Amino acid sequence: MSDTSPAILWFRNDLRLDDHPALAAALKSGRPVLPVFILDEQPGPGRPPGAASRWWLHHSLASLAAHIADVGGQLILRRGATHTILRQLVEQTGAEEIYFTRAYESGDKSLELELQQRLGDVATLRRYGGQLLFEPEALLKKDGKPYRVFTPFWRACCRLPEPPNAIPEPASWPAIAEPPASDALADWQLLPTRPDWAGGLGEAWQPGARGAEIALETFLQQRIRKYKADRDRPDLTGTSRLSPHLRWGEISPRRVWHAAQACAVSAGVTGGVEAFLRQLGWREFSYHLLHQFPQLPDKPLRPEFSDFPWQENAEGLQRWQQGLTGYPIVDAGMRELWATGWMHNRVRMVVGSFLVKDLLLPWQHGERWFWDTLVDADPANNAASWQWVAGCGADAAPFFRVFNPTLQGQKFDPQGDYVRRWIPELHNVPDPLVHKPWEATGSDRPGAGYPAPIVEHPWARRRALAAFQSLKEPAA
Ligand SMILES: Cc1cc2nc3c(=O)[nH]c(=O)nc-3n(C[C@H](O)[C@H](O)[C@H](O)COP(=O)(O)OP(=O)(O)OC[C@H]3O[C@@H](n4cnc5c(N)ncnc54)[C@H](O)[C@@H]3O)c2cc1C
Repeated sequence: MSDTSPAILWFRNDLRLDDHPALAAALKSGRPVLPVFILDEQPGPGRPPGAASRWWLHHSLASLAAHIADVGGQLILRRGATHTILRQLVEQTGAEEIYFTRAYESGDKSLELELQQRLGDVATLRRYGGQLLFEPEALLKKDGKPYRVFTPFWRACCRLPEPPNAIPEPASWPAIAEPPASDALADWQLLPTRPDWAGGLGEAWQPGARGAEIALETFLQQRIRKYKADRDRPDLTGTSRLSPHLRWGEISPRRVWHAAQACAVSAGVTGGVEAFLRQLGWREFSYHLLHQFPQLPDKPLRPEFSDFPWQENAEGLQRWQQGLTGYPIVDAGMRELWATGWMHNRVRMVVGSFLVKDLLLPWQHGERWFWDTLVDADPANNAASWQWVAGCGADAAPFFRVFNPTLQGQKFDPQGDYVRRWIPELHNVPDPLVHKPWEATGSDRPGAGYPAPIVEHPWARRRALAAFQSLKEPAA
């Protein structure tokens, strides 16, 4: 092999230069490096990104392209079948190596195998980690099987040597002399046009590595100290809001891990740091599950749930999606999601429980809606969390734990600030009734248009428990 021929760096869900093992290896090869992102919309086993994710991807690619240009390179954008594009680039540039970050979702894993088969004769494919703290192969139980329960999984993670230090981003880019043509990002039409519903997303987020860095710094300086106490409060800004940045690989979990650990040492905020790292642990756990159980986004991990007597209720689903169920904490969450592409974790659990238990709708309906509307829609975290909420996952909340939306609201949004922020119809409702506005009378009543509850929670709870009981009883 000639080391003057370029190396292709194929970007996927790893849209950063910092702590990027595949990039570091490509640079170490001494070759000129051709960075490329491929929008592959061919039908296949993978799921195309949802609308909010496409919005994020557009901005994240723009940010990555600018970042690469700052250090002297040029990001090439191409649309089409990945193997066809990579072959074209190999032929056009004489590249002999293709570097990339490994993925864990079944469609992406099949693509890696396909590339090996189709391109192995013309280029060497070099695959690296970088999206996780610990690779799934490094974390199996003594019997060689994957963990299915979070606590022992996380204990095992914490017994491993610490993840390696993050690799600094390059100061310069060894660009190729004559880069091939690139598509224009705008031509990909990743952004919504008519109607343009993404205004709120633009106000809430700064996609890209710089946005990720700011989110991390702000969190460590202002919030990690109180993370343990505040992380369950949707009325406060208590969490890191790093999820879309991690989902798109704009920041590496190793960078986040070491920055949080350094904070524990320098600022002595051990409790908050431990609680925060544990959440990163849930992300790891979800990815390990997805890797071991490729059907995670579609099929319940506990097979008996395949026979669960779910209901069909198109109107209920629509009212849930629109934030018109009559339960303020549920409606506020669904409206926050629509407006900003994100929802607080506690509220995700409450709206999830409401969909699968109060409305008895299949969890997959919720997973799909989140997939389309979340900017952090993540094949592992979304699927594993929905299975957790529905009680059919690996280490799931038991199905009989049905969240009471009124009590959840009163506990985690005590003054009603969160629900009033997203539901203007509740502005007149006094604090003691803000999570049960149906009890308000006279001028305390919610504004016109806010509905009465679409289902009575105590009745829905009994119905859910009866449906769950039917799973356990053998058919007559
Ligand atoms: C029904 C449901 C669906 C969800 N769908 C997604 C999804 O598509 N994408 C996604 O990233 N998270 C998902 N989550 C997990 C969680 O709600 C978000 O990761 C979290 O709200 C992101 O906010 P943050 O970055 O401020 O979190 P922080 O509290 O600051 O946590 C730091 C990081 O840890 C990870 N994390 C935190 N909680 C969890 C969790 N329960 N499971 C897995 N990883 C976690 C995230 O990467 C997060 O950015 C879902 C949870 C539920 C209940």
